[in-house]
Amino acid sequence: MPQDAYGFEVLKKRLGALILAHSYQPREIQDMADEVGDSLELSRFAMTARAPLVIFCGVRFMAETAKILSPESIVRLVSPGADCSLAACMSGLDAREWKTGHPGATLVTYVNSSVEVKAESWACCTSANAVSVVRAAPAGEVLFGPDRNLATFVAQESGRDVIPWPGGCHAHAGADIRDLRRAKEHWPDACVLVHPETPPVFWREADRVLGTGGMIRFVSGSRTRRFIIGTEEGMLHRLSTLFPDREFLAAGGISCADMRNATTDMVFRALDSRDAGITVPDEYAEPARRALERMTAL
Ligand code: SF4
Repeated sequence: MPQDAYGFEVLKKRLGALILAHSYQPREIQDMADEVGDSLELSRFAMTARAPLVIFCGVRFMAETAKILSPESIVRLVSPGADCSLAACMSGLDAREWKTGHPGATLVTYVNSSVEVKAESWACCTSANAVSVVRAAPAGEVLFGPDRNLATFVAQESGRDVIPWPGGCHAHAGADIRDLRRAKEHWPDACVLVHPETPPVFWREADRVLGTGGMIRFVSGSRTRRFIIGTEEGMLHRLSTLFPDREFLAAGGISCADMRNATTDMVFRALDSRDAGITVPDEYAEPARRALERMTAL
């Protein structure tokens, strides 16, 4: 195993490896990655790069998505036990039974879902394009899961008849509005950006409700100097790296343990391992890819 940065780079180059890190990862992981972004940006990056080996620093559904879109690559998840509490809220069986109970309805699922759930879906979406995907769904009811808060936001913005699945991200859904209020008292002049996975009371007290990619685009186009950020705390490092001339303050303790447990040693180990990486059964890979491709096409 390489013990230093030089040895790491040599091994990485020899293996043709790509290190991808989600914006919620710890700062030292973001700093050593070839690309940092949201789950879909990273999967698309892997698809374009066609690297033989992808080391994914994130949670399981993200590595699965990368594997579905880049089946030729070996995709290793740095922290094999890292699961997403939101994706765990809905199983493939849940999705099938939900559809059976609502004949004629269209199932749209957030990318933060398992491959079995994606395979049952008409289309997937990200927080950035959820509203447009739901607007484009066939007429009638839209079943939206697994995040209840995002479903409520999408119903509000799209005007469609959206039925939410009662799931949530433990970190975002558990956020305390008093933390946001304290941050606003501390920086009354700041612009407040919150993620749609936070409870609706956050949206009412924010200037914008945006996914992580939307937050980056908004800050880039804004002249405001200070921002209060209502999403997982790793995003503050991402924003501070991209915009060193701005200041960012967290809207409280939104922290995901599964995103926070990766270490640089774990990245070294994943690179040097002989593990065959993430596998996605064929019966799920093809329909899940169709749902992801429909999202991209929309
Ligand atoms: S922050 Fe929430 S949605 Fe994101 S990976 Fe963690 S549990 Fe899943």
